[in-house]
Amino acid sequence: MDARFSAADEAFRDEVRTWLEENLVGEFAELRGRGGSGDLAGAVELRRAWERRLAAGGWTCVGWPQAFGGRGLELSQEVIFNEEYARARAPGRLGHIGETLLGPTLIAFGTAEQQRRFLPPIVRTDELWCQGYSEPNAGSDLGNVQCRAERDGEQWVVTGQKVWTSLATISDWCFVLCRTDPTAAKHRGISYLLVPMQQPGVEVRPIRQITGTAEFCEVFFDGARTDVANVVGAVHGGWQVAMGTLAFERGASTLGQQMMFAGELDQVIAAAKANGAAKDPVIRQRLADAWIGLKIMRYNALRILTAAAGGAALSREALVTKLYWATWHRDLGKLAMDVLGARGEIRTSGAIDDYEIDELQRLFLWTRADTIYAGTNQIQRNIIAERALGMPREPGAAGKG
Ligand SMILES: Cc1cc2nc3c(=O)[nH]c(=O)nc-3n(C[C@H](O)[C@H](O)[C@H](O)COP(=O)(O)OP(=O)(O)OC[C@H]3O[C@@H](n4cnc5c(N)ncnc54)[C@H](O)[C@@H]3O)c2cc1C
Repeated sequence: MDARFSAADEAFRDEVRTWLEENLVGEFAELRGRGGSGDLAGAVELRRAWERRLAAGGWTCVGWPQAFGGRGLELSQEVIFNEEYARARAPGRLGHIGETLLGPTLIAFGTAEQQRRFLPPIVRTDELWCQGYSEPNAGSDLGNVQCRAERDGEQWVVTGQKVWTSLATISDWCFVLCRTDPTAAKHRGISYLLVPMQQPGVEVRPIRQITGTAEFCEVFFDGARTDVANVVGAVHGGWQVAMGTLAFERGASTLGQQMMFAGELDQVIAAAKANGAAKDPVIRQRLADAWIGLKIMRYNALRILTAAAGGAALSREALVTKLYWATWHRDLGKLAMDVLGARGEIRTSGAIDDYEIDELQRLFLWTRADTIYAGTNQIQRNIIAERALGMPREPGAAGKG
């Protein structure tokens, strides 16, 4: 494994860093650190403007092939872009679901017409997307989706409920897993539909979280419509496409995420030094452990990405990634609270109905979600047991949302 970056990569790093320094200024300066853990829907209007600035600079969809409007970056440079973006504390991306999930899915499975229609607005950041997988009885057991779509002439009519749909309030489109053949076996008879959100048959109800913010939502489809052309992959063949989308969930953004984690760990260390918690021997051990965990994550990510760039796949090693970072991040949240001590349990505002919390409190509350979304810890262990250790599949095969 050679995890070093080349001279050309380092020159590219300078270019990214310079662009961010020159552009994260003026009104955008206040976006530094926004839109991250527990603040996904914060400062939306200014972040929309920031998305447009990124697009104008050619810094959206950087890993997509140029033929689809991307920058066509090599994996190493995509990693560098994500690292520098996080290092600059540039705001969390509003368009990340379209850019990292739907776009790559359309590039892999979409028709030429779907690619022409939907990819350019993602690159320009004109259209935002949300992911309509989970339902009240279909989370880990994603194959159990009950939301249905029925053909009516040249349209599909969608009826049912989705839940935990992140950023649905600001999304223009949703990719929705629907049951289109109720007579087929569980994982068959599902189709992957692209559904416009701004229409009478769609109702979005935000769900308030323990962070006090409402980033995910219930989405009710009641006779919502979409054109027949808006099925990705084969009709009734949506399961394969849905699994393809999930495979795009990780990858080059991993190291950027770790850079963000490093920034959070720095904040926890600074708090420990400031309030004297750093003198507590157990806290010191846990801080050191957190730092070590971050290094392990980095080296594992680098060896996986280095292998991938060389055309190989360290698939067994990649299986531990989500479980490891989610658990690490949840533990960091707990550590932050233990560093703050009793003060961590007090809101920063005294008003009863005010939910003012500080960054470390928000980190703690938000990180409770990490071991749930994108496949719970239990599901990750099932996957490791089956795919890495060759153990028998459990009776009800599990998916995720
Ligand atoms: C912050 C956040 C954002 C999200 N955003 C989206 C989104 O944008 N779009 C979307 O579609 N979904 C989204 N989700 C939903 C997420 O994908 C689901 O919460 C997740 O798949 C788990 O499903 P569930 O909540 O129904 O829990 P369940 O599947 O009901 O699980 C409940 C518990 O049972 C355990 N369990 C379930 N099955 C097994 C098994 N076979 N073996 C062992 N243990 C098992 C689980 O690990 C968990 O502890 C989001 C969730 C969160 C927390």
